[in-house]
Formats: sequence, C-alpha cells, structure tokens
Amino acid sequence: VRALYVILLHDPMVDKQQKIVTTAVTPIDLHDISRSCATYGVRQVFIAHPAIEMRKLIRNLLVHWESGFGAQYNPNRQEALSNIQLVSDLDEAIAKIDLELGVLPTLVATSAKDGGDRITFSHFRASYEGEEKPYLLMLGTGWGMANELLDRADLFLEPIKGPTPYNHLSVRSACAIMLDRIFGLR
Ligand code: SAM
Repeated sequence: VRALYVILLHDPMVDKQQKIVTTAVTPIDLHDISRSCATYGVRQVFIAHPAIEMRKLIRNLLVHWESGFGAQYNPNRQEALSNIQLVSDLDEAIAKIDLELGVLPTLVATSAKDGGDRITFSHFRASYEGEEKPYLLMLGTGWGMANELLDRADLFLEPIKGPTPYNHLSVRSACAIMLDRIFGLR
C-alpha cells in the first residue's frame, strides 16, 4: 500500500542550548496539522508524547471536537481531527502501522537545518509515487529533534527554503508546505 503517515514528536527534542528536552503540546498544531493532513490525504496523524498527563489533555481536547459540543458546533473540525491517533513514542506509531499494513514504514526525518545526507522533495516525491509502501514523516517541536531520533530515520528531507536566508517555520506551517511539495501542483 502506498501511504503517507505523519508523526508530531515531542521527545527527545533539543532546546535553544541544544539540551535534550520534552516539549509541551501546542493545541493549534494539532488542529492545523490534522486539517492539512486531511486535505492532502495523509492516512493518519500520530501525536506522540511520553507523559500520560499530556496525552490525557489532548484526549480531552479531541473528545470535545469529536463527540462533545465541538462536534455539533464545527463538524469540519471533527472530520479533520478524526485522523489523529495518540501514541507515547515513535515505536508505538511504527507498531500501529505494522499492525495495520503488515509492513514497517520508511522513516523520513525533517529539520530546518542544512547538513547530512539529504533527499530533495522532488526525489522523495518520485520514490513515494514509484513504490507501494508506507512512509512516516517525522516532525519535531522546540528547537528540533535530538540526534537520537534523527539517526533512526531512513531518509532525511532537505530543509524547506524560500528566497531568503530565514527558514524557521512553525511546525504546522512546515507540515503544510511539505505536503504541498509532495502532493501539490506539478
Ligand atoms: N531549528 C529547528 C530544526 O532545525 O528543526 C527548528 C524546529 S521547528 C520549530 C519544529 C519542526 O518544524 C522541525 O523539527 C521540522 O520538523 C519543522 N520545520 C520547521 N522549519 C522547517 C524548515 N525550514 N524545513 C523543514 N522542516 C522545518
């Protein structure tokens, strides 16, 4: 099966001083990422957080929009958020994909920084379209993913760049641009 999955990771990340940290969940990221993913046909969005309290908080938010008052108030948002699955880490998401499709996903890392052995968006798009297999697009938070996570990826996408040297996007904007580079106009 050809499928793209997205995972928003919060641990282990680095902070401003390159220290290893766990970041907090930003609710607007969930709303925006789930809408972008629903628009471009992403099979499932995993939100990974190691803290049970943080997962509970997200669960309450999802329940509000999926079946609570929010569902009647804004059915479009309900539809988009229904593609979200909560997990504790990357391995749980991989296990869920394996369970669903019987294949391990190819892990695709992302970062705003240059360096390393990077694959261009057009190259990635061509391999995605040319193969019947699942890919898991890894998105970071804070100041980006720790090397421990980056090192697990099979592919590392080039950073998104515009015509200026500045390229520090919010993760939700980065996600939307990546999806458009993978599935958008040609
Ligand atoms: N300096 C960090 C880095 O290099 O990843 C920025 C972290 S950013 C706030 C959070 C996440 O958004 C990143 O882990 C990456 O997934 C994504 N992101 C932000 N800007 C990006 C860019 N220009 N190119 C690719 N991904 C980007």
